[in-house]
Amino acid sequence: MKKHNFSAGPCILPQEVLLKASEAVVDFDNSGLSLIEISHRSKAFVDVMEKARALALELLGLEGKGYKALFLQGGASTQFLMTALNLLEKRAGYLNSGTWSDKAIKEAKIYDDIYEVASSKNANFNYIPKGYDIPSDYDYFHCTSNNTIFGTQMKSFPKCDIPMVCDMSSDIFSRTLDFTQFDLIYAGAQKNMGPAGTTLVVIKEDILGKVSRKIPSMMDYKTHISKGSMFNTPPVFAVYTSMLTLEWLKNLGGIAAIEEENEKKARLMYSEIDLNPLFKGYATKEDRSNMNATFTLENENLKETFETMLKEGGINGLNGHRSVGGYRASMYNALPLDSVKALVEIMSELESKA
Ligand code: PLP
Repeated sequence: MKKHNFSAGPCILPQEVLLKASEAVVDFDNSGLSLIEISHRSKAFVDVMEKARALALELLGLEGKGYKALFLQGGASTQFLMTALNLLEKRAGYLNSGTWSDKAIKEAKIYDDIYEVASSKNANFNYIPKGYDIPSDYDYFHCTSNNTIFGTQMKSFPKCDIPMVCDMSSDIFSRTLDFTQFDLIYAGAQKNMGPAGTTLVVIKEDILGKVSRKIPSMMDYKTHISKGSMFNTPPVFAVYTSMLTLEWLKNLGGIAAIEEENEKKARLMYSEIDLNPLFKGYATKEDRSNMNATFTLENENLKETFETMLKEGGINGLNGHRSVGGYRASMYNALPLDSVKALVEIMSELESKA
């Protein structure tokens, strides 16, 4: 039985993408060679990389607007330091909305002065801070659009006179936004795109070249832009699979189409959390994430029964992160609405048993 995969990652992909990717590992495009055996400099792979980069910009509505898309390595965690190395000259402002923002701040502090414009750490990050100022003489402002661990999501972004950098690792391609408000977006592939191993970076070229420090080649966005994201051997399987997912999303009708599905899933999930007295949502209602729903079971005595029911119902990956506890239902793009229906049925069945 195919499981209902609510895991926070890595990674949830459409079945057709998994099938095509697995075929390519054996025989890529009827070449008689595996995707992971062919030269990354071959036309066949360079075409894959180009298509993946173009699809990313197209889906985000950023084509022809001065942006470049790159598929880099080192995970989103490397972007914590790479953004600072490339953009931080004197001071930057960071919104601290969760563990991943906190880590980004820690890395950037190695290079220069960081100012936390606001933080929700005092409430264990169960809300998104609002009403802060971003000084216009700072180098950039950094935020995290979706806080995977705590289940909060920025529903709007501040007006900002300086470059805005956003970690979209856990909600990229899940909702329509005016993506031109961002100057640099980064996202590890392993939630809404493909297997771990590559990180999408979308960058407005004109924000680069403004810091005085020397930047090692691998850490310099300009190096990767000038080499078409092929400066060193790219993670071919992760890039190819991401390309297949982006193609799948385009054929589905793009971000607007998946957003509709994501809203249906989130509505269903949160209405069960709110209506069922056995459960309690963790995040403040107005900041709830459509990707990761965090909640607790109020009656500990029912834990074993609930978890047995989850197991029998084929529900996978529902355990909450250790810093929040309880449960976390991650509802990434590839999770079908039927999986949420299956989970919600178990939750209401538990209520009838209690
Ligand atoms: N940022 C966010 C929002 C994440 O959810 C994660 C991982 O889950 C990361 C950064 C770290 O990503 P990576 O493991 O690719 O370094």
